[in-house]
Amino acid sequence: MNNQRRLFSLKMRASQQNRHISGAERIVPEECVAATAGELVSRAMSHSKGQPDFVNVKIESADQPMELPALTATTREAATPEAGWGIVKQLLAESGFRRVDEIIGLFSQTYPMRGAMLLDADTLERLEPDRERGVRATYMDAADSSKRTAPTAKNHFSEALVLATKVVNTPGIVGEICMSDDPDYVTGYVATKTLGYVRITCLKRRGDPAGGRIFLYRGSKERVSETVEFLQCRRVLVTGVPSSPPTKTETAAVDPLSELDGELDEIRRAGLWRSVRVSPPQLQSFADNDYLGLSEDPRLKAAAVAAIAEFGTGSGASRLVTGTKPPHLQLERHLAAFKGTEDAVVWATGYMANVGAISALAGKGDAIFSDELNHASIVDGCRLSRAEVFIYRHNDLDDLSAKIAQAGPRRRRLAVTDAVFSMDGDWVDLPRFLELCRANGVISMIDEAHATGVMGDTGRGLCEHFGCGHPDILMGTLSKALGCEGGYVCASRMVCDYLRNRSRSFIFSTAPCPATAAAADCALTILEEKPGLVLVVRNKAAAFAALLAERGMPVQSGSAIIPVMVGDEKRASAVSQALERRGFLVPAIRYPTVARGQARLRVAISARMEKKDLEALADAIAEAMRETAQD
Ligand SMILES: *Cc1c(COP(=O)(O)O)cnc(C)c1O
Repeated sequence: MNNQRRLFSLKMRASQQNRHISGAERIVPEECVAATAGELVSRAMSHSKGQPDFVNVKIESADQPMELPALTATTREAATPEAGWGIVKQLLAESGFRRVDEIIGLFSQTYPMRGAMLLDADTLERLEPDRERGVRATYMDAADSSKRTAPTAKNHFSEALVLATKVVNTPGIVGEICMSDDPDYVTGYVATKTLGYVRITCLKRRGDPAGGRIFLYRGSKERVSETVEFLQCRRVLVTGVPSSPPTKTETAAVDPLSELDGELDEIRRAGLWRSVRVSPPQLQSFADNDYLGLSEDPRLKAAAVAAIAEFGTGSGASRLVTGTKPPHLQLERHLAAFKGTEDAVVWATGYMANVGAISALAGKGDAIFSDELNHASIVDGCRLSRAEVFIYRHNDLDDLSAKIAQAGPRRRRLAVTDAVFSMDGDWVDLPRFLELCRANGVISMIDEAHATGVMGDTGRGLCEHFGCGHPDILMGTLSKALGCEGGYVCASRMVCDYLRNRSRSFIFSTAPCPATAAAADCALTILEEKPGLVLVVRNKAAAFAALLAERGMPVQSGSAIIPVMVGDEKRASAVSQALERRGFLVPAIRYPTVARGQARLRVAISARMEKKDLEALADAIAEAMRETAQD
């Protein structure tokens, strides 16, 4: 190397209305400065993100740069972001990082930052002095950059390799994870001294403008400033940078479970992580579907205890073998009488009732018409049936009619809808639904999980609410207003016989615990004796809706379910957490329970709640919404 030759650093950045568009930097010998400056400017002027209204080229001396050999580059193929993040995780774990899930969980926090997060790899403390900007790595280039051709075509690969080489050789830094913010560039990388530079061909979906970077740090906190100084000021020339990425992909066997892990990371990064927990007893729950407060009723408890004393804790076998005990038959007779049908069949859960009934009623070649917001158990029943499924727009019976016409004649056709929709609290226009089915010879089915005990003057459901006839299949659950668990179908004797002979989730699953059946039977008796309970819950729900409207949050109501729309998943979680800090348990309902971007709070009202509880919650929701408005 000719020591006489002086080196200069050139840094270009371009913006439009103060918004960053592009940036690049070089370190070149004196005689190339003018030409390089020209290249950088023309690159700035022709960027795909738009024409800049401001371009700055800064030229400084860059003598005595540190020379570093380029990291060895390899490529790992990933077909999906889930697979890609699985590889990231595997690589980090193999490199000895311990809290890999948490590290990746923090990645989305770097999206808004221009620079990188500087993260203590062991304590996960964030060490970057400026959290908004992050730490930048700058003053670096490939040693022979001035000899390269096509300088205006941004070469993601070699620029990233240069950067990663500087970063990984920085004192205190032990690794880097990077995903570009270029919406068209989905390749990202992980770099460490031992792994080298590992390109991963897919870390995000095409068109996604998110991008970020984490520098992993290991060392004492006193030396962080040295690290930052090196990253931001030390001149570095990287030797041996190949001009194109390695095409040969490493074929080391991928742990088949790492893809699951990658998918979990996607869930974390999207703010959709869910976990099971016992709801803290100090919180007041607005999440239960225990609309009438029966799940804690001493009479139900006593009925269950008595049944356990008489029949034990398990049924011993499926209903058709030896599992049927007197409480099962008693409950089925009672349900049929309550709903006014000839017969009823009970399953262990509502989910099993839907899956088992729908898949028995329709098969290959048949047609099922299903509202787009139907409960997941209906959706799964449709899938399991292998019938052709026609999804119609939510509560749009014109669309249902069109779909029936489109399906044409079939051996069997079944239309199914939630009576009251579980996440929105609205309901189907049942008389019209029934008329449409009848006129077209379509079997009608409704799911009264949220209607039984809530709708109609005496809680008999949507038929009572409208004063109309019954659908062919009246499905419901014992797990919501009735305070127990289980699912049922009320229908004609013939339909019920058919289900007992054809529904696989009835036939091949152990009968529900007799105690549950006895408790549910008791709940029906209470409802028959005190139908006024139904009005209590509906009036409280209406009062709560009015309280929200007074606070500037109009909501629809009429059932016991009050959705408070938020939209963004992360904000919905933040509102829910803010409510939790105030002592209220109100879950954020997010994708996949509802569509993406439709996240909400779901408030379930119970007859048990007092007016002051409802006022306190309405105030808390208003505050939490204000608090999270910026995020
Ligand atoms: C809760 C629910 C079910 C499932 O009932 P489980 O008894 O909880 O299994 C079915 N359909 C709807 C509409 C529901 O809300």
